[in-house]
Amino acid sequence: MSDNQTPDVLVLGAGLAGLSAAYKLARQGKRVVVVESDPKVGGLAGSGTIVTEWGEFDYDNGPHRFHTGEKHLNEEVLALLGDNVVQANRLSRIFLFGRFFNYPLHGPNVIRNLPKVILVKAFFDYLMVKIKSLFVKTPDSNFENWVVNRFGRTLYKIFFGVYTEKTWGIPCSQISPDWAAQRITLLSLWDTVVKTLFKPKDGSTPRTLVSKFFYPRRGGIGTLCVRYKEEIEKLGSSVHTSTRAVVVHHENGATTGVEVEGPEGRRLIKAKTVLSTIPCTVLSGILSPPAPKAVTDAVASMKHRSMIFVYLILNRQKVTDDHWIYLPEDSITVHRLSEFKNFSPYSAPKDQTLLCAEITCDFMDELWVDSDENLRKTCVDDLVKIGLIKRDEVLTTFSRRERYAYPLYDLNYKANKDCVLGYLASINGLDTTGRQGLFKYNNMDHSIGMGLAAAENLMGRGESHSKIADEQKWFG
Ligand SMILES: Cc1cc2nc3c(=O)[nH]c(=O)nc-3n(C[C@H](O)[C@H](O)[C@H](O)COP(=O)(O)OP(=O)(O)OC[C@H]3O[C@@H](n4cnc5c(N)ncnc54)[C@H](O)[C@@H]3O)c2cc1C
Repeated sequence: MSDNQTPDVLVLGAGLAGLSAAYKLARQGKRVVVVESDPKVGGLAGSGTIVTEWGEFDYDNGPHRFHTGEKHLNEEVLALLGDNVVQANRLSRIFLFGRFFNYPLHGPNVIRNLPKVILVKAFFDYLMVKIKSLFVKTPDSNFENWVVNRFGRTLYKIFFGVYTEKTWGIPCSQISPDWAAQRITLLSLWDTVVKTLFKPKDGSTPRTLVSKFFYPRRGGIGTLCVRYKEEIEKLGSSVHTSTRAVVVHHENGATTGVEVEGPEGRRLIKAKTVLSTIPCTVLSGILSPPAPKAVTDAVASMKHRSMIFVYLILNRQKVTDDHWIYLPEDSITVHRLSEFKNFSPYSAPKDQTLLCAEITCDFMDELWVDSDENLRKTCVDDLVKIGLIKRDEVLTTFSRRERYAYPLYDLNYKANKDCVLGYLASINGLDTTGRQGLFKYNNMDHSIGMGLAAAENLMGRGESHSKIADEQKWFG
């Protein structure tokens, strides 16, 4: 379509939520325009390919394994990938006490690796918590209580406390119990043991225990969004990268259009229906007329945890067999390490490999503004210290920063989020969805699921996408 025409739907953000919605709408004959501030589509699930003298290396914004319990989403993803697909066997480990723990846990591996004193103490603590809970109920008022109430203080300290505070940068007592309830399986050794031993009665496999997943043969996980873009454009709709939504106009309680800034300068796209997948905090700040003070105050209290990805190209065939390794100890700055060759062997030349070291930080804190050279040194020092790499294997490094990596579930997040989303919902023709749109710490399949449902809703049918946003089945 010509961009001077008013689209049926204007989509803000070309991550999985925005593009899956746009594709669904375009397939139903709607004229859709998507605007994306980055030069590439994909958002958090975006990828890059670096061409070097040693060959080409594909990399993601941190490791991304796509798996889902939803058959229709698996089918959608496989249809998009066509024959550009490999299947990988899931493998992750945790590096703790100088040893590697399999993840999900295997009983003998844990018993062999965990120092015996800690094992006995943890077991005793766990029993005490269970017995105590028969008589006294301690409220799940924050993340720390939530975990201690279920697993005891020893396991909390070892497996949850340090890693969680390293990841979020605040004490666990200031983190909402909601986060634990939604995400604990990603961090919990103990929960995984419980799930391994006591499989659900309906015969389904918990997300944490899914052992195989599909991944693009070449191009990284971002290939999904690249393919969405191609299909959307084939249907006559358009996706504009390097184009940022800068003002969202509304009048008499209804959306009228969005001003965007892109390669052709600033222009107004008139639209009565806007589906936003950009951070709801950003959207609230670009409304014209502006949002009321209560909303801007709520936005000011909502925080995201940011992430620095330091990529290291090594002169070595492979470092690990893992997709990623958690590094919970606070003596190590890197909190997770991934190796893309283990997602697809075709993602790197035969004799070299590409690692991604993740460092969590706050936007503009001392790590965020640190030089790439210092970050490289920090990561290499960490990885040499734990014996994973040798200093002279490092051929080259590069970094990428992601401001809106994780929505921070602090103790007030829900009240603030409800205030912001409530106000946005009051503007007719403006809908928000996806991880950023709904301030939701979610997975890729959930963002696609929400995008598809939002598209259905815009066509006046289907189950509410906001209801889907809260369903527990997408988490854990
Ligand atoms: C490090 C990391 C690892 C992860 N690993 C996994 C995994 O293994 N498995 C899994 O299932 N999920 C994983 N996830 C989660 C997954 O990446 C997200 O759930 C999913 O990609 C979110 O998609 P989205 O479209 O909802 O949001 P986003 O991808 O954030 O899309 C929002 C888009 O809006 C754009 N935007 C922002 N502001 C503007 C503006 N003003 N104008 C125009 N565009 C704008 C952004 O550039 C972005 O492209 C991981 C996430 C992270 C951070």
